[in-house]
Amino acid sequence: STELHQHHPLARRLTVLSGPSGVGKSTVVAEIRLAHPEVWLSVSVTTRSPRPGEKDGVQYFFVDDAGFDRLVDEGQLLEWAEFAGNRYGTPRRPVQERLDRGEPVLLEIDLQGARQIRDTMPEARLVFLAPPSWDELVRRLTGRGTEPPEVIERRLAAARVELAAEKEFDVTLVNTSVQDVCGELVALMAVRQ
Ligand code: 5GP
Repeated sequence: STELHQHHPLARRLTVLSGPSGVGKSTVVAEIRLAHPEVWLSVSVTTRSPRPGEKDGVQYFFVDDAGFDRLVDEGQLLEWAEFAGNRYGTPRRPVQERLDRGEPVLLEIDLQGARQIRDTMPEARLVFLAPPSWDELVRRLTGRGTEPPEVIERRLAAARVELAAEKEFDVTLVNTSVQDVCGELVALMAVRQ
């Protein structure tokens, strides 16, 4: 089978959506699932537990630690990262098969994963989802305000660092409206680089 590496001519059909935590990446992806079922979304593997309403094989493939270890050892993940105490990774084969057929692929992953893709597949298009403003991100991260101040402080410090990653990306989309951002993203994916 064709290896996915940096010289793969079709790797440029790969779009990576990433951005700071709390910016609304998963909401955008949920909207794409609803409004643009023609867009194929990679389903990640994770060691975290399903949230209410999440189905195995839809939002994620839920595996235990040993299962995740096996996928890493067998080289079955295109990238993976640890986030908030859980591991997340992109299964390599389904992505590879679609790119081999010249079909567009969308990954929604964290910043560490986006950097791995940038390094291993420089042809991929990296899209940074930015908050409409710093104040809005603060509002989203503080949420219901039930967390202790030091937890919120830590999140805001992390968000400041994460926002600086924008310069590493090819495109920025500002998340003012979920519908608008989805439309922009889907339009972007229809255009070959
Ligand atoms: P959540 O637990 O809220 O669904 O996701 C937490 C974080 O993990 C989000 O920032 C999401 O983008 C990221 N994530 C989800 N799947 C993957 C993956 O396959 N690889 C990486 N690197 N991050 C992922």
